[in-house]
Amino acid sequence: MSFLSVFKKKKMTVSDNRAPSYSSGGNKGKSSIADTRAAIDELSKVVKDTPEAVEIYLALGNLYRSQGEIERAAQIRNSLIVRPGLDPAIKARALYELGRDFSRGGFLDRAVNAFEKAREIEGDSPEILTELAELAAGGREFEKAAHYYSKLRQYVQQAHYLARLAEDEFNEGEDAQGSRILKKALKISPSSTEAWLLVLSRLKKEGSLDKFRKKFHTALSLVPDHLRFVIIEGLLAESLVFGDTPINMADSIHDRNFPFYEAMVEEIEQADPDVIIHYYGARLLQLCGKQDEAGVWLEKTLMLNQNFWLARLELFNLAQDQQQLTSCFKNQLDFFVNIARKVQRFTCSGCGFKRDRIFFICPKCRSWHSITFRKELNQ
Ligand SMILES: [Zn+2]
Repeated sequence: MSFLSVFKKKKMTVSDNRAPSYSSGGNKGKSSIADTRAAIDELSKVVKDTPEAVEIYLALGNLYRSQGEIERAAQIRNSLIVRPGLDPAIKARALYELGRDFSRGGFLDRAVNAFEKAREIEGDSPEILTELAELAAGGREFEKAAHYYSKLRQYVQQAHYLARLAEDEFNEGEDAQGSRILKKALKISPSSTEAWLLVLSRLKKEGSLDKFRKKFHTALSLVPDHLRFVIIEGLLAESLVFGDTPINMADSIHDRNFPFYEAMVEEIEQADPDVIIHYYGARLLQLCGKQDEAGVWLEKTLMLNQNFWLARLELFNLAQDQQQLTSCFKNQLDFFVNIARKVQRFTCSGCGFKRDRIFFICPKCRSWHSITFRKELNQ
C-alpha cells in the first residue's frame, strides 16, 4: 500500500479491519521495511503539531499498526486524544482507531474500553458496534455478541451467536434454556442455517425421528439453497456443531443413524435437489449400506456436473467391488481413494481458504456464510 493511497482514504471502513492483506511486510525486503518505517517517523514529526493534518496523522497511526508497531500507533492516538480543543468527531475516531490498535495487539480489555469511549461521543455507529460485537464473539461472550448484532440489525449474525449460546447451554445440561434460545434465533432469522442444524442434531441425538423428518423438511425449504449441504454435512458429524475437531465419518456408520439418513434422502428427493444435494443423497445411502441406490444417485450427480471429482471417485470405488481385481491392484486403488477422500472439500468463495469441516465465518477473511463445496479439484 503506497503512502498516497492511505492519504486518499478519507474514512476507514469496517471491512478494512478484516483483510489479511493488512498484515505487515508482505513480500517487501527488510531494507524496504526499514525505509518505510523511517519515512513514517519523518512524516509523523512533520504533521504532529499541525492541526490541519489530523487525518494524515491518524493515517500514519494506521500505517504503524499495519507494520505491527502497536505501541507507536497507540501513542499517536493518545497524543491526539489529549490535544486541547480537539473536534469531538476526530477524538471519537482517534479512540476508535486506538481500539483497533489494541484489538490487533491482543489487548482486548483495553480495546473494549477505547471503543466504549468512542461510543460515548459518537453513539452507536456501525463501525464501533461491529468491533464490539467481534470482540465479544472472540471472547465467547455470545449473548453480548448477539446483542450488538441486533443493534446493527444483522439478524443472520445475531441468530448465529444465539445458536452458539444455545449450544453452550445444552453442553451445561440447561436444555430448556437452550431450546428457548434456539426458538428465539429462528424467530429472528427463520433461515438461520446454524440454528436449524442445532435443532436437527438435537432431535437426532434424542432419537425423535418423526419430529426430525418434519423439521428437516422445513429446514430444506427455508435455509438458503447454497447452504443446504451444510445442514447435511453437519448432521453427518457426531461432533459439536461449532467445534473445531475434524469430522470422523466412521462415527456416522452406526445402525441408530440409518433411519435418520433414510428420512433425509426421502426429503431430499422431494426438495428439488441440486448437484451437491444429489451427492449427499448418495453418501447417505452409501452409509446405510444401500450401494446400488447410491450408485444411481452418483450417476445423477455426474449428469449434472461431469467434473464433480468426488462423485466420480465414489462411483469408481463402488464399481471396483464388482470387478475381479488382484489384491495388489486393489491395494493400490484403495491407497489413492483414501488419499483423495482426505482432500479438503470446502472452500471460501471469498478468499479461497480451504478446510475439511464446515465453517460459518471464514477463519481467514471473516466472510459470513461464504462456504462452498469444491465440486471441481481446481476450485
Ligand atoms: Zn474467506
